[in-house]
Amino acid sequence: MTDADPPRSITVLSGGVGGARFLQGLLRLVGDEAEVTVVANTADDIWLHGLKVCPDLDTVMYTLGGGIDAVRGWGRTDESWHAKEELAAYGVEPSWFGLGDRDLATHLVRTQMLEAGYPLSAVTTALCERWRPGVRLLPMTDDRVETHIVVDDADEPSGRRAVHFQEYWVRLHAEVPAHAVVPVGLEASTPGPGVLEAITRADVVLLPPSNPVVSVGTILGVPGVREAVRTTRAPVVGLSPVVAGSHVRGMAAQLLAAIGVEVGAAAVAGHYGARSRGGVVDGWLVDTSDAGEVAQVTDAGIACRSVPLMMTDVDATAAMARAALDLAAQVRR
Ligand code: GDP
Ligand code: CA
Repeated sequence: MTDADPPRSITVLSGGVGGARFLQGLLRLVGDEAEVTVVANTADDIWLHGLKVCPDLDTVMYTLGGGIDAVRGWGRTDESWHAKEELAAYGVEPSWFGLGDRDLATHLVRTQMLEAGYPLSAVTTALCERWRPGVRLLPMTDDRVETHIVVDDADEPSGRRAVHFQEYWVRLHAEVPAHAVVPVGLEASTPGPGVLEAITRADVVLLPPSNPVVSVGTILGVPGVREAVRTTRAPVVGLSPVVAGSHVRGMAAQLLAAIGVEVGAAAVAGHYGARSRGGVVDGWLVDTSDAGEVAQVTDAGIACRSVPLMMTDVDATAAMARAALDLAAQVRR
């Protein structure tokens, strides 16, 4: 493609809520003009009551397919909670996870297909036949990977315990100190079908404002993925998930602190690093409130612009996607 051509294929490395909202804006912007492939984080996945639950895949699928509860930002619209109440009445743990009745059907279908021998990627494709999210949705890996967070526990001889990421976030509300982030199984995982090709053959690769530690960080940690992002001929542009020193929503601040990265727009860019210096991004967008950090990002070898980065509605988010594609076109030159 030449500089003037709009990208025909765009690959996005996405977590759940932040990634899904960004994708809504991107799809509003590009319509049918580009094929969008989403490589989704699966390290938040959890087995509950014998069912395989994939929060980030489902958040993207429901959001883009029109099934999301827009107020909560996760789970199904028009949800009821009878099964959860019945499980609690039996005293079955864990009782803290929000497992809605409609959502349960997705997990039942997924688990049944997994047990019949289909890989998660094939199951995801099958689920998307119903939801038609308008993107090609690829799990980062078909292997089991689970992020665990090391927290304090006075009952343990070591004084610490690793809990599943969902327990840290949903039960503990990310309010206890996080000492370490441990992506169990990540090093031994292999990229899902189509994942590396989606990165190496894209016209543009985007890092949405997803969590840099437990969403984009885990995707990049699948062996081969970071290298594909480093070496793709496509420009790679990221959008800061930190605005004015805050993660807006979620728990990125706590987890950035846990891995020793400052909670700032420029610091996250520095954490990803410039591709020209062994990192993974060519360009980086910071919010207008962080315009003072542009020079710091540029000094790190990353092209940087400040634009409004609050995903208040789909139009505002489409404007963010526009700015990301414009920056991609500039760094390609
Ligand atoms: P999760 O898997 O549901 O946590 O979702 P993601 O990892 O895809 O995205 C979560 C991240 O999105 C949060 O940590 C925030 O930093 C970021 N985020 C959420 N809303 C906004 C927003 O309006 N603007 C920006 N720039 N970032 C946001
Ligand atoms: Ca997630």
